[in-house]
Amino acid sequence: MYWVVCFLVAAGFARAATEIRLPAKWADTQSYGSLVCHADSSLDDIEPLLQELDQLSAEIQETLETVSQPGTIDLYVFRTRQAYQDYLEHYFPGVPYRRALFITAHGQRMVFVQRGPELETDLRHECTHAILQPATIAMPLWLDEGLACYFEVPPADRGTDPRGAKVRQLVNKGEVKSLAELERCVDLAQMGGDEYRFAWAWVHFLLHDSFTARAELLQFVAAVHNGTATPPLSQRLARAVPRIQELFSAHFAAWADRRSQ
Ligand SMILES: [Zn+2]
Repeated sequence: MYWVVCFLVAAGFARAATEIRLPAKWADTQSYGSLVCHADSSLDDIEPLLQELDQLSAEIQETLETVSQPGTIDLYVFRTRQAYQDYLEHYFPGVPYRRALFITAHGQRMVFVQRGPELETDLRHECTHAILQPATIAMPLWLDEGLACYFEVPPADRGTDPRGAKVRQLVNKGEVKSLAELERCVDLAQMGGDEYRFAWAWVHFLLHDSFTARAELLQFVAAVHNGTATPPLSQRLARAVPRIQELFSAHFAAWADRRSQ
C-alpha cells in the first residue's frame, strides 16, 4: 500500500527560515514560472515534467475556480534517498521520514522529492499542496489530501485511476467512509490508506458527478479560501444533494465502465 504524506509545518516546528542555509551551489537550478527548482544533479532529463508542473497551478485554479497566492515555490530534487534524507534530517530535524514532503515555514513554500519511480506522482501531489497552501491553512485535512491525490494523476488518466476500482470493491462490501467520518480526521496520524482513498473518492465524486455537488464543493473551497465561516461540507451537501451517499456509491459502482472524465 502506498500513500503520500505531507506536512504543513507550523512556525517553530522547522528551523527558522533564516537558519535554513542551502548548499553553496546546487548542481542545477531552473525556473519554470513560479516554480524554482534546485537539484543535486542535472534537471535536463525531467524538464518536460517540470514544465508540466508549471501548468498544474493554472489547472488547479481553473478546476477549483480559485486563485493561488503570488510568490514562488521552491522545489528540491535529490538524486538518491540518502541525499534527500540527510538534507531533511539536517535542516528539519524531527520531521519523520516520508518519501516526499511539502513544508511551509515563515512564508516559504518548499517541496522536497527524491528521484525514483514515483517521482512524477510525488511532484504533482506535493506541488498541489504548495499551490493550495494559502487555502489549506483552514482547509479540512481530508480535503487537502483528497485534492492532492486527485491532481497527482495527469488529467487524461483520472477516469482510470486505480483507486477507483478499489473504492468500488469497498462500496460493494458496504465499507464506505462517509464525509462526516473523514471530517473527524484532524491529524495525519488518523489518515490511513482507506482515509486517503476515500478522500480522493469524495473529491472525484464531487467534481464529476453532478453540477450541484460540484457547485457545493467550489463554494466550500471559496469560503475556506476567503476565510468565510461555513458549515462542514458534509452538512452543506446533506442539504443540497438528497441521497448523496447513494449517489456516491452509484458513482463508483459504474467505475469499470469509465475511461476518462
Ligand atoms: Zn499530501
